[in-house]
Amino acid sequence: MYIIKLVIHKYVVQQSQQIRDILLLTLVPKKPHHKMVFTPGQYAAIGFREGVRPTPMRCFSITSTPDSGVLQFGMRVRGDFTRAATRLKPGDPVRVQGPFGDFTLDLTYDKRIVMLASGIGITPFIGKLRYLAEKQLPLPVTLLVSNRSATDIPFYEELLSLARQNPYLRLYFFCGNANRSVPNMVQGTITDLHIRHLCSGSNRGSTYFICGSKNFSKRMQTALRQNLVHETRIVKESFTQISSVKIGESGWSVRSLTYGTTAVSLLLMSGFIMTLDLGRVVPRLMHNQAAASSVQQTNGASSVGSQSSGSSNTNVSPNTGLQTTPAPTNYYQPPVSTVS
Ligand SMILES: Cc1cc2nc3c(=O)[nH]c(=O)nc-3n(C[C@H](O)[C@H](O)[C@H](O)COP(=O)(O)OP(=O)(O)OC[C@H]3O[C@@H](n4cnc5c(N)ncnc54)[C@H](O)[C@@H]3O)c2cc1C
Repeated sequence: MYIIKLVIHKYVVQQSQQIRDILLLTLVPKKPHHKMVFTPGQYAAIGFREGVRPTPMRCFSITSTPDSGVLQFGMRVRGDFTRAATRLKPGDPVRVQGPFGDFTLDLTYDKRIVMLASGIGITPFIGKLRYLAEKQLPLPVTLLVSNRSATDIPFYEELLSLARQNPYLRLYFFCGNANRSVPNMVQGTITDLHIRHLCSGSNRGSTYFICGSKNFSKRMQTALRQNLVHETRIVKESFTQISSVKIGESGWSVRSLTYGTTAVSLLLMSGFIMTLDLGRVVPRLMHNQAAASSVQQTNGASSVGSQSSGSSNTNVSPNTGLQTTPAPTNYYQPPVSTVS
């Protein structure tokens, strides 16, 4: 069944905290019935007012857990939208649409998990890892996070803390300038060799979740397929497609829904205008035709002479011998411009 989730949930800012270039935005429902129900790993589209103007809606993975009662997002501050979000104050209203996406755990199917993240692509995993720790679920998880720099790892401290709380979580940070004395740090990027290891031995049969840059995601998928991981075991999330705001389970994006609705409205409008025009023109045509045939009937008896006289204004059908109305003449004469 197709469910179209266009409901706007009204939230207000509870807290806004910026750590380096990451903004942690925490929202609470304006009223209890505005609360949005979601599953860890899903995302929502949010928008607010910048002065008097509403901003566009932008998508962000939810980093909070369903039981926390709040909605939290971790945003990398880059462009106009995220810069405007840093100016939000506690109590400011925020529109929330969603939840969207199926980058979620299936606890009956996923018995062992490998999470592959790069950069800000860590956010949907934060929601899942907080949930597993909160519920103390004995689900073995291996998380590999790739970042350019060791000083630029979003949620670094929290990930270490989650690994301390959850004995089933193994954590590895891959960085170009990794400090080997820091636990869980690996120099360089995630290679095919690492993936091969994650597809063999006790890791066999894992479900692989990927979220990160386009290149990263492509590389990870290729490596997994080379290691014969079944498609149903590869689950990916993309941050790059703005049009990937799926409306519920229909697979429709906000953009395609807008285009679709506009096209249908235009079609309906042109149909309406055509019907109006036909309503005006058809009676006039019928009236003209009736007038023409009555003129023909009146002329019928006396027109034989004029037919034979070869009047240039009268057309006679060679098949039926009936007169037809002459073709309209273009009476409009363009003004003749004279050059003196
Ligand atoms: C499912 C999903 C989940 C996401 N989760 C997160 C998250 O947890 N944290 C996070 O930091 N980011 C996330 N993103 C990406 C985020 O939505 C955009 O990167 C963000 O809106 C960009 O905001 P901005 O202030 O940098 O740029 P804006 O001022 O919003 O836009 C700058 C330019 O970038 C374009 N643009 C904006 N967003 C995108 C996009 N996603 N793809 C391509 N072009 C875009 C705009 O059209 C505009 O031309 C997610 C995206 C998706 C689709």
